[in-house]
Amino acid sequence: MEKIKNYINGELIAPIKGEYIDNFNPSKGEVYSLIPDSDEQDVDLATKAAQAAFPAWSKTPKEERARILQKLARLIEENLDRLAEAESRDNGKPLKLAKSVDIPRAAANFNFYATGVLHYASESHAMEDMAINYTLREPIGVCGCISPWNLPLYLFTWKIAPALAIGNTVVAKPSEVTPFTAYLLSELCIEAGLPKGVLNIVHGLGHKVGAAITKHTDIPVISFTGGTITGAEIMRTAGPMFKKLSLELGGKNPNIIFDDCDFDKALKTSVHSSFANQGQICLCGSRIFVQRGIYEKFKTEFVAKVKKLKVGNPFDADSNLGAVVSKPHMEKVLSYVKIAEEEGGTVLTGGHQVHLEGEVANGYYIAPTVIEGLTFDCRTNQEEIFGPVVTIMPFDTEEEVLMMANSTKYGLASTVWTENLTRAHNVAAKLHTGIVWVNCWLVRDLRTPFGGVKNSGVGREGGFHAFDFFTEPKNVCIKL
Ligand code: NDP
Repeated sequence: MEKIKNYINGELIAPIKGEYIDNFNPSKGEVYSLIPDSDEQDVDLATKAAQAAFPAWSKTPKEERARILQKLARLIEENLDRLAEAESRDNGKPLKLAKSVDIPRAAANFNFYATGVLHYASESHAMEDMAINYTLREPIGVCGCISPWNLPLYLFTWKIAPALAIGNTVVAKPSEVTPFTAYLLSELCIEAGLPKGVLNIVHGLGHKVGAAITKHTDIPVISFTGGTITGAEIMRTAGPMFKKLSLELGGKNPNIIFDDCDFDKALKTSVHSSFANQGQICLCGSRIFVQRGIYEKFKTEFVAKVKKLKVGNPFDADSNLGAVVSKPHMEKVLSYVKIAEEEGGTVLTGGHQVHLEGEVANGYYIAPTVIEGLTFDCRTNQEEIFGPVVTIMPFDTEEEVLMMANSTKYGLASTVWTENLTRAHNVAAKLHTGIVWVNCWLVRDLRTPFGGVKNSGVGREGGFHAFDFFTEPKNVCIKL
């Protein structure tokens, strides 16, 4: 069985203790490779390599750093099929999604930040004829990057690319649930000629490797994407150490559909925003609020469309949904269907595991699920489920839907459907989320600030915001 290796100081190596954990293929429910069960010794080795690489990498001309990272992007593009197949096998997502979204976006992340760094500039503040201030923006040192399983290579590279482009070195940990494409990336880093120690990838469990990165005294910066509970734990450790922290956490996103919307567009996109990647995107709209005038019509047509979605082998071209990421995750998602029923909800479609045949008979599949009849403040509508489960609720007025939409502890993203421009602006301004999409979903310009408010996170990724995070500003004041 293939053994994944750590990537430390430019080499692919076994974990120091030589221990491994199982890596599952969720579409088949079987172990297919082994992951290093690394610990703080491996993290320390990686940190020392990153520290040693920092002086030279941070002084390498940005044009040269950009050239290497663009070469890496090109290699990702050239290995599209291999990487997409690995992502689909590791995560359970449809192959066509990995091919059209995950892997192209990983290449785009490197291209975007490699070219972005050439345009990044710092401020200057003149004080008439008294003095002039200029701000230096310097890379900080070794950055810790920890990422989740839902968009494995996409989110892993979203952190690493800006950190490296601006001149930091990195110790990174992909999710232990989906490590394979990060492993393949380390091979491509070697091929691209990335100097040794600039990027180090340590595989293993969150509470061992993730925790060791978080508390390492020589890693002053932590960029984390994952669940809110883990984010809080990282903050508890890193806060008193005064580390620089970026936390991209969970969501419970509202999808608000006014009766003056473009009905067909709202309907079609809502199916996508509810169930893309089996509902395992932090930006999926999991609470659908529909204005009463079109509620029955929307609900009926929405459920009819959802019933037509095909849950199947992720490698089949006609599968709309693949497997969810793991057995424990499948059980967690299905437990919320039970909670919803106990809370008085009615399952309009789905609500159960799907048992497929043949080689995928033991995989973890869930039917796309729509639930109605719940109050906005019940557990099902307040807690993140992170699977193919949405609730649908009617509302009457703008004030009422804003109150319900803003009622959760989360504040990541929201979607609004209306043809009324004034209403669109008003509602967008009053939603407590870091991102608002009007008449669209998941339209992404990588220059925009990305992140959430409340328990959905701290800080913003994207564009120059990422460079601001991965640098330390120093103001120099010169008396004239
Ligand atoms: P987790 O919080 O469980 O894990 C995220 C990462 O943190 C993994 O690499 C994990 O390792 C690691 N980790 C776990 N425990 C610790 C610890 N004590 N210290 C340091 N690192 C640790 O999240 P999931 O992987 O389950 O991802 C799903 C969550 O991510 C959802 O809540 C989703 O909303 C959120 N998310 C947010 C996004 C955003 O941009 N706001 C985007 C995508 C997802 P391991 O896997 O080995 O446990």
